[in-house]
Parts: sequence; C-alpha cells; structure tokens
Amino acid sequence: MKKIDVHAHSTMWGDNLPTFGTPLISPEKLKERYNELNIEKGFILPLLSPESRNFVQSNEEIEYIANNNADTFFWFCNIDARMGGNNKESDLSKLLNYYKEKGAKGVGEITANMYIDEPFMDNLFYHCEKCEMPVTIHMSPEKYGCYGVIDDLGLGRLEKMLKKYPKLKILGHSQCFWSEIDSGVTVENRNGYPKGKVVEGAVIRIMRECPNLYCDLSAGSGYNALSRDEDFAYKFIEEFGERLLFGTDFYMPAQNILLAEWLDAAYKNSCITEENYKKICRENAIKIFDLKGE
Ligand SMILES: [Zn+2]
Repeated sequence: MKKIDVHAHSTMWGDNLPTFGTPLISPEKLKERYNELNIEKGFILPLLSPESRNFVQSNEEIEYIANNNADTFFWFCNIDARMGGNNKESDLSKLLNYYKEKGAKGVGEITANMYIDEPFMDNLFYHCEKCEMPVTIHMSPEKYGCYGVIDDLGLGRLEKMLKKYPKLKILGHSQCFWSEIDSGVTVENRNGYPKGKVVEGAVIRIMRECPNLYCDLSAGSGYNALSRDEDFAYKFIEEFGERLLFGTDFYMPAQNILLAEWLDAAYKNSCITEENYKKICRENAIKIFDLKGE
C-alpha cells in the first residue's frame, strides 16, 4: 500500500537560495524519493514566516509546484497571523478562501514565533475554523532563538485553543509537541528528542479531551516519540489510530525517513493492526483533507 505524506517542503529555486550549505529538495528529487519510499502523494507546505529559514517562500511558489506536479503533490497555503495589515482583527477568511478556492487543502506549517493563544493567533484560528481549513503547527518553547508557536510545559495554551475552536482540526508537530507524550518531560529537554520509557503525558490527556487534535508524525520528533518506547507506541496507535498521520518533513534530498520503516515493521510484526496501519499511512489523510477522487 502506498503512503500519503502530510508534511513536506520543496523549492523550485534549488541552490539559488541562501541556505548556507544545506541543499534543499527540488520537486523532481522529492518525487524520486517518494518512489523509493513507496509514497504515492504528498503535501507541500510553504515556509512563509521569517523565523524558520533564511528565505521566505510564497504560497504562489508552492501552488505552482503542486499544479505542475498534480499527479504527486497537494499543497497547503500558509498564513502568518500578522498578514493583512499587522492587525489582530484582520479578515483572514478573505485570504483563506482565496487559497482554498485555488486548491489549498490546509494551512501551515505555522512557524511564527508567537504565543499560540495571543490575539493574533486567536484571530488566525478563528478564521481557519470558519473556513474549515485544518492547521499544522510547529510548536516552540520560547520567544527567540527558535521558531514556531509558543506554549509552556504541559501545552495548556494549545488545549485552550483546541477547546475554544472545537471544529478546527489542529495537527500537532515538532519536538515541543512530541516530547509531551511523556509526563517526565522537562523545560531542559522539551525542545529535543528525549528517550526512555513513556508515562502518559499532556499529548495523551489532550488527545482524549479534544477530538479536534491530530498528530503529524513527521520528522525526527514524531519518529522519536514512537520509537523511544515501542510498547507504549503500539498502545498509543491502538487508542488514537484515527488521528495520527504519516509525514516526512522532507526538505533536503538526503533525509532518512525512519518512520516509514518503523510503521512497516510494526505492521509486518503484527504490533499494530492492518486497519490502523492503513489509516495512519493513507486513509486519515484522505478523510481529513477530503481527497476522495483526487
Ligand atoms: Zn516542516
């Protein structure tokens, strides 16, 4: 069965960007890697806020890539909460509906380094819920020196926003999100890849309380959360298989996608059910992003 990747990046500008030694993946190369990894389709997410990289991508670049490779790529638009005049009451629905009509399937990944419950972010979430656009967030621990929406240890602000906008689907991602799978997470290690046995943490509690929270398993953070304690991971998948999504977070050509192997092995060894394997690798993406027939 071929997978769908809910989280990838790509650029048509190749080496002509100030990446200082980190080669970025072109759409052609990404398709090659997808073939190698048995991935049928993927979502390209624009890196649009300046906090994350040395360059800023436009929604239009990503739309162009997706439209020119429609057999393989879907796309997200990205909205920085400060767009539309740096006004916390901007009518972001206007922008969101514009991109939605052009084919964008979701919003993100949000990398602006702002508190997740501050008025600007509140306004963005309000409009995303209104326009029925799922949002992928990169979570960060603090202001400055990192990127992504900020929450405290325990993810109380994320929980607040999930409850305030119950029809908004939020896909959690990044170290600060995934380290909260375990209640032993600390201020010191929350932005890393903590190892060891897992005791149910904030992610589990909030997943139970908020049916609108989904988990983006991409990148080292998602893989680490599952592989650090496999017995826990199998139970986690059993309970939340409906809301977990396979992803890569590809942005470089030579990236190891350990999650793909991990999921294949877990299924082959009957540690997870066929039903959950299919949901995570493919079917949840089709359902959440309404891809039937595409
Ligand atoms: Zn990413």
